[in-house]
Amino acid sequence: MRSERRTLRCTSCGKEFPARVILRVDYGRPEDRDADLTDGSLFTFRCPHCGKDTYANHYLLWVDEGRTVAVCNLTCEEEKNAVDEALSALNSFGRETTLRRRFVQSPARLCEKAQIFSAGLDDRVVEIVKLYLAEEVRRTHPEKTLTDVLFYPDGDGYGVLFQCPDGDLSVRIDKETLAAASAQFRFSQPAPEVVDAAWAISYLTGGKG
Ligand SMILES: [Zn+2]
Repeated sequence: MRSERRTLRCTSCGKEFPARVILRVDYGRPEDRDADLTDGSLFTFRCPHCGKDTYANHYLLWVDEGRTVAVCNLTCEEEKNAVDEALSALNSFGRETTLRRRFVQSPARLCEKAQIFSAGLDDRVVEIVKLYLAEEVRRTHPEKTLTDVLFYPDGDGYGVLFQCPDGDLSVRIDKETLAAASAQFRFSQPAPEVVDAAWAISYLTGGKG
């Protein structure tokens, strides 16, 4: 793991404290695989003054175990330069042509992408399925406001979480249903670096992809 020392400010007591911020988790390295992207721990820092946890969003690059895809959580556009640098260092490993990239803008989305790719799924299929399911939820629960839609592994299948201010909803998807959905799509172009709901809408309406 690559990390750096930063000074953070506690959101409870307001005092500053030094923290080690993880910048890169490379599952291609066995020693990095203990780093859990799913529990929020890489973005949570304990204040030494008051003992409370402070949440801080920051740049984090995740590379999958087979080093086929790199997902980066960005907090600003300029951080893309750091991705180029990090990946050119990794590419000395000799996998340059196969390393796909994805950019996301929240730790929750980083976690989602890492889980999608770790499960061997295509995130384009997942985004399209999420879009259909969100439409269905809007139709059946018109009183709900969806603030985010997140895919996650769930036992021997998958789930989609619909975050709503007045209570979340979730839908289960079994592996066969997702495989059947996957078979319906042909993606002729290489995937762009941002694959999200906006990408799915443009794919479905414009035939891009
Ligand atoms: Zn504090």
